[in-house]
Amino acid sequence: MANDSWTERAARVLQDNYYPARLTLVRGEGCRVFDDEGRSYLDLIAGIAVNSLGHCHPAIVRAIREQSATLMHVSNLYRNPWSVRLAEEFATRVPGSRAFFCNSGAEANEAAIKLVRRHAHFKYGPARHVIVTAEASFHGRTFAALTATGQPKYWEGFEPLVPGFRYVPYGDLAALDAAVTDDVCAVLLEPIQGESGVRVPPPGYLTRAAKLCSERGALLVFDEVQTGLGRTGTFLACEADGVLPDVVTLSKSLGGGLPLGAMLARGEASSAFVPGSHASTFGGNPVACAAALAFLETIDADRLLDRVRETGDWFMEALRRLAILQPKITGVRGRGLLIAIDLAVPAKEVALAAEARGYLINAVQENSLRFAPPFIVTREELSGFLAVLEEILHRE
Ligand code: PLP
Repeated sequence: MANDSWTERAARVLQDNYYPARLTLVRGEGCRVFDDEGRSYLDLIAGIAVNSLGHCHPAIVRAIREQSATLMHVSNLYRNPWSVRLAEEFATRVPGSRAFFCNSGAEANEAAIKLVRRHAHFKYGPARHVIVTAEASFHGRTFAALTATGQPKYWEGFEPLVPGFRYVPYGDLAALDAAVTDDVCAVLLEPIQGESGVRVPPPGYLTRAAKLCSERGALLVFDEVQTGLGRTGTFLACEADGVLPDVVTLSKSLGGGLPLGAMLARGEASSAFVPGSHASTFGGNPVACAAALAFLETIDADRLLDRVRETGDWFMEALRRLAILQPKITGVRGRGLLIAIDLAVPAKEVALAAEARGYLINAVQENSLRFAPPFIVTREELSGFLAVLEEILHRE
């Protein structure tokens, strides 16, 4: 059995909830990963926006090594300094915020959904419990996060869903205006929709959504699980729109590759939870928090947000130039290092061809490719990819 391929072994013992993987990755270093046959790939999707400092960044490795030899886990019956320090870091970046820590994006959204329901329950009464979310959104796979996800294909077979959700077309202010009635406790939006293909809302949408929520007593929650922590060139993507919501959820790159999620709440919302309202055994785990502190320190010390903006602008411009020469690229969009292109050919085939040439990219939709490379990716590396993309599209 030990001689069987990883593919056969995985098929025997792992459930079928993921599409079968083609590659078995065994090592990572900087922007590159290596498979079990020693082939190397430039990772332009970075664990789907997780490995923002690249793989095995020395600062993250050092923090994990030191912390795991000092204190690995205590329950939340006790305090640990690393979760307090991490929450302090957030409070300086998201003024007035108080943190709840968990282990994933779905859990962070689950916490946010519980928080906004509880806030409205005690302030206005139980009738005000509806949460408005967007069509084509993605918020995770736990039950409330799944219900918040406005994509019926993910609901199939799991109904009945959690009651009290209402869906609006993303970017449509008139629809949002009509949906936020006096039974709505919160509006939950991604500042840029990631999984549905890096969809950037029209200018002014988030600002007007914030105004509408504050006028009607509904809380505004931004799911920044994919867009946050510098991915789009600002600490939170919503900073580019000059909006700060009541609640923000984060995860993905936060733990530098370790599982960690955070739900940050400001103002009135920050005291909706009381002792016993919500909990997570591993929430605030010292090792994950130490890794997150190293991640935040590194993006500041190495001025990586500037680099994300510069490299992202350069890459988008290069993709736009390629689109002029190559009509099979029908659209380019994104911000910072969260970018997608639309294609006139199936994206999966292009991703497969790129993989065979040593580049990992993601077919996020049938006709769209997504790029979310590490912040440290270089123009030379991206230029190499652009040449390969041009060649693949020429042949397709
Ligand atoms: N929210 C957004 C915007 C996401 O992109 C994702 C995952 O892709 C999630 C939530 C769910 O995160 P997780 O898979 O860590 O539960």
